[in-house]
Amino acid sequence: MEVCSVCKEKKSIYYQRHSGLRFCRECFIKYIKKKVRKTLGKKIIRQNVKIGMGISGGKDSLVMAYLLREYYAPIPNSEVIGLIVDEGIEGFRKKGIEIAIEFCEKYDIPYYIATFEEYIGCTLDSIVERAKEKNITANPCTFCGVIRRRILNNMALERRCNYLAIGHNLDDVAQAVMMNYIEGDIKKLAILGRNIEHPKFVKRIKPLKYIPEDEVKLFADLLGIKYHSEPCPYSSLSYRSEISDILDLLEERHPGRKYSIVAGFERLVKYLPVEKERGVCKYCGNPSASDVCKVCEILKKLNII
Ligand code: SF4
Ligand code: ZN
Ligand code: ZN
Repeated sequence: MEVCSVCKEKKSIYYQRHSGLRFCRECFIKYIKKKVRKTLGKKIIRQNVKIGMGISGGKDSLVMAYLLREYYAPIPNSEVIGLIVDEGIEGFRKKGIEIAIEFCEKYDIPYYIATFEEYIGCTLDSIVERAKEKNITANPCTFCGVIRRRILNNMALERRCNYLAIGHNLDDVAQAVMMNYIEGDIKKLAILGRNIEHPKFVKRIKPLKYIPEDEVKLFADLLGIKYHSEPCPYSSLSYRSEISDILDLLEERHPGRKYSIVAGFERLVKYLPVEKERGVCKYCGNPSASDVCKVCEILKKLNII
């Protein structure tokens, strides 16, 4: 029997390749809880804080919500709330939302739901349709990500949250970094690593950014967290999924590389210039670096506004 490297007693259930450590169930759960707590730090886990958590019903957002709820439960004057966005993806999103609601009710987390339809007047499915008609070849995720980010920010802002927590794991962040490197998109790279200082932007935090996807999944399974595991029908079309395959191969051959991509990026980002969101968008009034914001740019291109 392989024994846990931490307690040196119980049976190991997980071998962490990059560290060479083995974990039993209890030591693994403790390890994740401690690591995420350390990622957030005392500046974030403190009194008088309200956190809006983007919850999709997938494993990442539910593990994040599970941990944040546990960290803040004993802290006076603190609150965590669930923010759920329905993009309008037929046959996919409804199931995730059901699971997200079930989770929030089980753990007594207040939650709010907003839809693309009420926010921009149409679903993601109809945006994709319209893009096809207009021969615009952009990936659905490009539209989806920009609009969802705006909705989550505004939901958190309306509810006076100090932070907006997003369940991106180590794999997600490493993929985003590499995508922007490969594209040579320094502007996006700079934004990825920093928060825009603006009264209309809620600071974003990524509590799981140092936890690899397979460890998030293992944590969810060990704790019996029920999550939505079907992939989005649009996800296979994405450039991101190609980068994900490349990074998985790299990690397989050289354990620890996903982590070093993210850690290296965090050191580098301090030196990248950030564009100030000085003006406001002439269509929607949201802060924007140019006179039309990214959301309105998409909607204009598709003749939705
Ligand atoms: Fe949106 Fe793409 Fe995620 Fe699907 S995979 S929910 S289209 S960002
Ligand atoms: Zn142990
Ligand atoms: Zn706008």
